[in-house]
Amino acid sequence: MATRTDMLAELGLLPLWRRRGQSVTAPTLPHDTAAPHHTVAARGNRDDSDARRDRIAALTWRDFAADVDACVACGLCRSRRRTVPGVGDTHADWLLVGEAPGAEEDAKGEPFVGQAGRLLDNMLAALGLSRGANVYIANVLKCRPPGNRTPEPLETEACRPYLDRQIELIRPRLIVALGKSAATTLLNVDASIASLRGRVHRYRGVPLVVTYHPAYLLRNLPDKAKAWEDLLLARRSLAPRGASEA
Ligand code: URA
Repeated sequence: MATRTDMLAELGLLPLWRRRGQSVTAPTLPHDTAAPHHTVAARGNRDDSDARRDRIAALTWRDFAADVDACVACGLCRSRRRTVPGVGDTHADWLLVGEAPGAEEDAKGEPFVGQAGRLLDNMLAALGLSRGANVYIANVLKCRPPGNRTPEPLETEACRPYLDRQIELIRPRLIVALGKSAATTLLNVDASIASLRGRVHRYRGVPLVVTYHPAYLLRNLPDKAKAWEDLLLARRSLAPRGASEA
C-alpha cells in the first residue's frame, strides 16, 4: 500500500512548498486550426436545436474549433474571452474530461492551464503520460461560467453535442471523468463522486472511470491517494485496441 509520501512523490508534489514550473507546451490541436469562413457564419440563433445537433454531429476536426468559437447557444458566449474546445492528441487512447474553463483557461483558450492543470499534468506524468501525447483533455463546457460558478443544466445541455462529437472523433480507449460535473454529464445520472468512484462505467461502450477534480484535490490533500487509485484503475481498464472501431 503506497504511503501518503510515496503518493505525493509520485504526483511530483514534494516538497509541498515548492513553486512548480509552468504548464507544458501550448496546444497543438485543434484550436489553432483555421476553418473555412463559410462554416462559421453567424448562425447560432437561427439554428433550431435538431439542426444544430445534426451539424455538430457531422463536424470534422478541421471545423470543430471554429464552430465552437462561433457558438452562441447559451449566455456564456457573452462573457467569455476565448472558447476552450480542448487540447491534445486527436487520436488519443486517454480522454480526460473536466467541468469548464476557469479564468486562466478563458484567457488562453486551453483547458487546465492553471494550478489545477499543473496538478493534472503531474498526475499524467506519474502514469508516464502527458497532454498532447496519447492524451486529449476537454471540458463539459467550452466557455467559462462567470466567477467559475457551477454550470447550469441548460448550458451543459447546449454544450453536450460538442463533447459527444469529440468523443466520436477521438474514439478513446478510456475516458476519465474529472469531478462531478463531468461524471454526471457523461453518465447521465445524478450521483455523488463517492458513489461513482471505484468501478468502471461505460459511455457508449467506452470504459469510463470517475475521479476527483484536480481543483478539489488541491484543497483536500488526503484524497490524492484515492485519485491515484482511480488512475491505476483507469490504466487497467483501457479497452483493447480497435475495440471502438465499427
Ligand atoms: N477546471 C476545469 O474543470 N477545467 C479547466 O479547464 C480548468 C479548471
